[in-house]
Amino acid sequence: MHHLHNWLATAAALLSLAPALSPAAEVVVYSARNEQLIKPLFDAYSAKTSVEVRFITDKEGPLLARLQAEGANTPADMLITVDAGNLWQAGEVGVLAEVDSPVLKASIPAHLRDPANRWFGLSVRARPLVYSTERVKPENLVSYEDLADPAWKGRLCLRTSKKVYNQSLVAMMIARLGEAETSRVVSGWVANLATEPFANDNQVMEAIDAGTCDVGIVNTYYFGRLVKERPGLAVAIAWPNQQGSGVHVNISGAGVTRHAKHPQEARKLLEWLASEEAQGLFAGLNLEYPANPAVTADPRVAAWGTFKADPANVAEAGRLQQQAVMLMDRVVYR
Ligand code: FE
Repeated sequence: MHHLHNWLATAAALLSLAPALSPAAEVVVYSARNEQLIKPLFDAYSAKTSVEVRFITDKEGPLLARLQAEGANTPADMLITVDAGNLWQAGEVGVLAEVDSPVLKASIPAHLRDPANRWFGLSVRARPLVYSTERVKPENLVSYEDLADPAWKGRLCLRTSKKVYNQSLVAMMIARLGEAETSRVVSGWVANLATEPFANDNQVMEAIDAGTCDVGIVNTYYFGRLVKERPGLAVAIAWPNQQGSGVHVNISGAGVTRHAKHPQEARKLLEWLASEEAQGLFAGLNLEYPANPAVTADPRVAAWGTFKADPANVAEAGRLQQQAVMLMDRVVYR
């Protein structure tokens, strides 16, 4: 009896030591993307590789501040966030490592990743025009620039300029048109507003549906969600700038942290997230477009039609963000 007891005690001691003797491979992720959009991917990756993915979610601001404050002591191996403006910022403040990965370069087109290899787009979000199907003929919707025309006076709804999505839109316009022309366009938008800018994209579409305004600018996944909730919504998507620069697109994306404790595991996870195997799920969970061109969009997303997207590097949205914010401030786009 004593013998058995001793054996059990020894076995128990060995088992408790086992994790320390051969630590399970893991990756720690800080994510500004919601749990329901990332957990199914991490679960699939863990099932496939037995690498454990631990994560916390928060807004991008607090996550970036936390990474900076933790410095070399951070437990984070990877940062996931939305908008090239935010990813660019993370690269600028030095919390991301350069990752030289032939796999990532082959999976993600050059204009959807950092030229310095610190962050990589994992999904594409388009920001086209939306319009009232009752009061607007879609053939009259030409471009973002055209919304500055007095023909749209009192008919435009916009989300606040405080949101990074609009800062990136305007920054990409500055890259394309220059400061003076962009200023003319954005002040034209302000002159055409039907009402004060809204807090979110949904309110823009609801205002169009309610007859407050006729046209707006929103990310397509918000359109997809709202139409699912309200199938009778009298709002549709129009793809602007098809004869020119293309629809403004942005990304969600990720990078490996500078002080990662598991940099190889983090790089492998990032490569998998960019792979054909993961991209359909990564984009589809939020009704976005895959960043990897080998992967087709979810049928619900594909149903909105095909369009020419702006091929400019999304890093410009970060580089010109401050200039865009100041420009919008000057023309009193609130
Ligand atoms: Fe969003």
